[in-house]
This record gives sequence, C-alpha cells and structure tokens, in this order.
Amino acid sequence: MIIDTHAHLYYPELISEIDEILSRAKDSGIERIIVPAVDLTTSETILKLSEKYDMIYCALGIHPCEVKNSDMKSLDEIEKLLGHEKVIAIGETGLDYYWDTSNIDNQKEFFSHQIRLAKAYRLPVIIHTRSSTEDAIKIIKDNYDQNLSGQFHCFSGDKEQLNKVMDLDNFYISFCGNITYKKFNDTDIILSCPESKLLSETDSPFLPPVPYRGKRNEPSYIVNTISKISEIKNTDVERLREKLYSNATNLFFKKI
Ligand SMILES: [Zn+2]
Repeated sequence: MIIDTHAHLYYPELISEIDEILSRAKDSGIERIIVPAVDLTTSETILKLSEKYDMIYCALGIHPCEVKNSDMKSLDEIEKLLGHEKVIAIGETGLDYYWDTSNIDNQKEFFSHQIRLAKAYRLPVIIHTRSSTEDAIKIIKDNYDQNLSGQFHCFSGDKEQLNKVMDLDNFYISFCGNITYKKFNDTDIILSCPESKLLSETDSPFLPPVPYRGKRNEPSYIVNTISKISEIKNTDVERLREKLYSNATNLFFKKI
C-alpha cells in the first residue's frame, strides 16, 4: 500500500477528472491521499472533497505564498475547521523566499502561528520551504517539543540541514518527481536519509516524475518516484514501499 502525502487535487487540471485520477491511484496501490490546502478557500474545498471521497484526507493551513493574500482572521476561521474527522495535519505552511522576500516577517508570523495550532491540536505540520530551509528549521527547533511532529515536504536542503531534521524525533522528509530528472545530481542527500525518516509524495499537479515530465502530475505517478528512490538506495522496492507506508501511517494516521 502507498500513501501520497501531498497532492493538490483541487487544481483545475486535476479536479476536472478527479474520479479517473482516484481510480488510477487505487489501481497503483494508493490507499490514502493527503490534500494540503494553501488558504482558507482551499481548506473549505478540501473538506468537501474528503466527505465525498473516502481516500482523501485534509491538511488545512495557509501556504507561505498565500500569506500576502490572507490575514490572521483566515487562520482563526481555519482553526474552527480543525475538529473535522478527516483533518489530519496543519499545512501546508512554511517559508518561501524564492517567490517573495518582501514579507518574510509576515511569513514567519503565519508559520509560527500554524506551529502553535499544530501543537494545540496535536496535529503534524506539513512544511514548505524554498530558499528558506535554514530559517524554517530554526523556527521548528525554537518551537520544538515532543508534541510537535511533521514533514519537510519536497526537501531541497543540504546535508547539514538534512542532519538537523534527522535529529528531530517525529520529523520526516519527502522528495518529489524532480529526483528522476537528468539534471538532479544530489543523490547523496537521498542516500543520507534513512528509510525510517522518509515519506512518499507527488506534489501533484507539480513536478511529475519521468516519463511524465512536462505534463501535469497525479498521485498514480508516485510509483515512478518510489522506484527511483529504491534504485538510488539500491534497496528492494516492495520493502521500501512498506516502510514509506508505515512511516506515513505513524505520522498522520495514528489516531485513525
Ligand atoms: Zn504543496
């Protein structure tokens, strides 16, 4: 069984054929899909999706790139939705210095607030970083205690940063389809990450693995990324799948 821990199924190119996409996901061995919100509106959309489709679970939160379009009131509104039975994480939150550095303080404030929610509601936090891994790790460390758990999704940090995340109990990382691209040359980071700290994700509709590069991504393509990780790690793909599944279950579905 496989869990896609990160797929934005509400994007127009995916929602328009959601039934076919979920059926292909099931055929590929996917049991559950975590759909992360980017703002209040998508948080509400995901809840409705999760009520309609058994295999869909929700992460609610405000993405760093949406901070400029949101206010603290929207986080209060999101907090009211956290009791829903299919909400299993806060996110995606984090920091993005690639697209916008004009509002870093505001991004940090939203990130810290969402970490507080994660702790208060005992939910793992799904973290987005881009050109910001160092600061994101620092904020997590500053707020860290045994009630905090989470995932650095689409990990792009260096080895030193990887080691800092590995030192945090209950924290995991995941890689996207870009690890299958020819220009990806950081296999060392994948080799350095123990299987016990790895999760599987697609980040659909972004970063489709080879041979789907240039198209939009979907959860069923996750098998290509998992195969690539097993190839790099020179490990049995079935065994790796089982490990990734049990890691995701431990982080997100312990209470279910
Ligand atoms: Zn995402």
